[in-house]
Order: sequence, then C-alpha cells, then structure tokens
Amino acid sequence: MNEYDSNRIYDLAKRNGYEKTNRLEEANCYVLNTCHIREKATDKVYHDIGRLKKTFKDKKKPIVVITGCVAQAEGEILLKKERYIDAVIGPQSYHNFNNQVLEIEKKFKKLNHTDFDVIEKFDTLNLLRNSNTDISSFLTIQEGCDKFCKFCVVPYTRGAEHSRSIKELFNESKDLVDNGAREIYLLGQNVNAYNYNGKRLSHLINEISKIDKLQRIRYTTSHPNDFTDDLIEVHKDNKKLMPLLHLPIQSGSNKILKEMNRKHSVEEYLILIENLKRANPLIKFSSDFIIGYPGETEDDFNMSLKLLKKINYINTYSFNFSARPGTPAADLKKIDDSLAKKRLFIFQKLAEKIKMNYRKSLFNKKATVLFENKSKKESQFFGRDEFLNPIIVNTKNNLKGVVCEVRITDGNHNTLFGEIEKFDEKKDFAA
Ligand code: SF4
Repeated sequence: MNEYDSNRIYDLAKRNGYEKTNRLEEANCYVLNTCHIREKATDKVYHDIGRLKKTFKDKKKPIVVITGCVAQAEGEILLKKERYIDAVIGPQSYHNFNNQVLEIEKKFKKLNHTDFDVIEKFDTLNLLRNSNTDISSFLTIQEGCDKFCKFCVVPYTRGAEHSRSIKELFNESKDLVDNGAREIYLLGQNVNAYNYNGKRLSHLINEISKIDKLQRIRYTTSHPNDFTDDLIEVHKDNKKLMPLLHLPIQSGSNKILKEMNRKHSVEEYLILIENLKRANPLIKFSSDFIIGYPGETEDDFNMSLKLLKKINYINTYSFNFSARPGTPAADLKKIDDSLAKKRLFIFQKLAEKIKMNYRKSLFNKKATVLFENKSKKESQFFGRDEFLNPIIVNTKNNLKGVVCEVRITDGNHNTLFGEIEKFDEKKDFAA
C-alpha cells in the first residue's frame, strides 16, 4: 500500500511543480514514506535522515517530509527529536501534502498533520489522474481495520475501515489500464471487508473485470472472517481473478489465535480453504505466521508447523513476534528470544522446503506468464505466472504487457526460468 501511496503523493507533488529525481543530492524536497509494521521502523527514519544530512552537509537542506505510519504513530516525537524534519504527514492526511510543502517553502515552519481525513483524502486524490504505468498496478480500495488483532498497529495508524466507491475505483482502474496496466492488485488492510453501500468485494471485482484489456485481478490482504459466500463464488466464476489467495492465519494453535484476538479457529479456517478449493480447484494459498507470540508453547508451535504442511502453502511470510508500542500485545511477557529465533528457523526451513518442492513440481510444465519488464540482464524478460511465481525467459523481444505460455526449465527459491512456448491469443503490447 505504501507503494500505491508513494505514487499518489508524487501525483500530488507534480502539481506543485516537483519532479522525481534519482540523484539524492539534487532533491529540493525529500519524502520518506514509512511503514510501522515491524520493529526498528523509527530507527530507520533517523538512519535515513543521517544519510541525508551527510549528503547536504555543504548545501541548502531540502524540505524533509516524513509520511506513512511512522509519521502517524510517532509524529510529534520525530519532530521534537530530529530538527532536520520539516513535516510529518500521516497516511490519511497526505492529500494535504502540497499545502504543507507550500507553507514550509514560504515560512519554513514545522508541521504535524496526522488527522484521519480519509474521505477528504480520496476526494482530493480522485481529482488527480493516477499516473502509474506499471503492468501490474496497485489500487487501494479500502483502508483501515476494525479487527484489533492484539499485535497489530494498523487500527491505530490507518484508522477505521473505509471503502472507496465503486465508481471512483472503476474510473481509476480504467486510467491504470489506459496507462498500460494489465493486472490490478486491489489493496486494503482488510480488503475483503470492502463494503461500499452494501456492495462487496465480489461486486467490485466483477465490475473491474469488464475493462477489456485488463487481464488479471488480485486482492490482498484478507481476513478469514470476512469471506462472504459471494466472494468465494467469484473465485469460481470470474476468470480474470487469479487463483492465488493470500490468507493470513498467524498461528496454527487455537489458543494463540484466541490470545491474538483473531476471532476464528483453525477449524473454521480449514473449512474456508475447502470452500475456496471447491469453488476453484486450482486455487493455491500463501499466508503470514507470527512465530514466538507471547505464551506460545512447543505444542502451539508444532501446530503451526502441522498447518504449514497440511495446507502446503506455496509461499509464507513468517516473522518473530515484535511488540509494537501502543498495541495490547506490547504489554505481554515475551518468550525467550533465542527460543523464538530457533522456532522461526525451523519454521522457515520447512516453509522453504515446501516451496522448493512446489517449484520443482513445475519444471517441464507450462505456465501462463504476464510479462512486466526487462530483467537486469539484457535479452531477458521478467514476468509472473497466475500463482505469482517470478519467471525469467531469454528473449530479444519486448514482451512488456504480453501474456505467453512458458515452459519452465529450471529454478531456484527466488526465480523460475523458462522458454516461451506460444503467445496468448489476446497478445497485447502495452508498451
Ligand atoms: S485484521 Fe489485519 S490489519 Fe486488521 S488488526 Fe488484524 S492483522 Fe491488523
């Protein structure tokens, strides 16, 4: 979502006459869009400011703006502790970016803008065309969360759930497709809670899929409790909806799920997985796990391992529990650090083995790949298959925006390699 937000902040800044530069020393205005989901996020801000100070040691300093969730959570502290920062703007206030920067330009005063003006934000952004030109483009459809999982900062930094209107999302999707996008990634902190005047995510997916040149739709991140029957059905009926679902569970232990306030059990999660598989037998899953949550016993941990094996996730994102200030879990007694690290190592080793077995099972099989951009090496192109597997092929052609059948020949835990078999009927050069 920060990538989407950064692009939109840039769309705003352009109106003030700013242009992007890859040369730090040229910048007149430096925006650091931050994420607060992991520990040490604030340290990273100070570290970056240190780098900036060095670069501008003998020059006029640029305007320095900290945006995103660290700004929201620690804005006042940042301004007090680091005088080099000129403004902090929370994720629901960045529509004020231009006014803030203009004020700083004129008066050079410090500003803290961390209100939750989410409606005003999207009203302002709707007036600006999204200029992003990525083949796979992000689109924020929903923000905030009302779930209050005990470990999570989102309800405090992004605020309550808010869904954007079907019309504005359809229009923005159309702009993105006109810019070249062939895949749209619908984003929300709790994306399947999307609800605009009773119209749910399934309705939005079906509307957006009417855009002719759009080939693929994905959405993330979902909460198991917000899976309505119509959303499960859309996995059966809508061919543009890709058959990979990121469905976080965080732990395989009901005791830990309860302590996290996840509000569902492992059994309910498994039933949901079965229902989704029934709707689309091709569907595969990825997930998030927190290893070493306060109170996690060896038995609880083994239940997470058991679930990992049972679902055969093709990808998992696992981390040790990290206490976020201000969340209820921050006050819980942590388990021994070395034990948590050991468990994470075991978990990730198994997850990697499952992933590699899956990847190897793809060798010599065909995959349908949407190509996005040239790879680092000349004469190589990078794309992703329907399950988000990264795939590289050797080619001299510009395949940007093209869907091709590729035979997988080799691979490692990062990338698969393949040879083009044939172009898709709907061959369409976006570039
Ligand atoms: S559902 Fe997701 S975003 Fe919402 S509180 Fe829980 S972990 Fe955070």
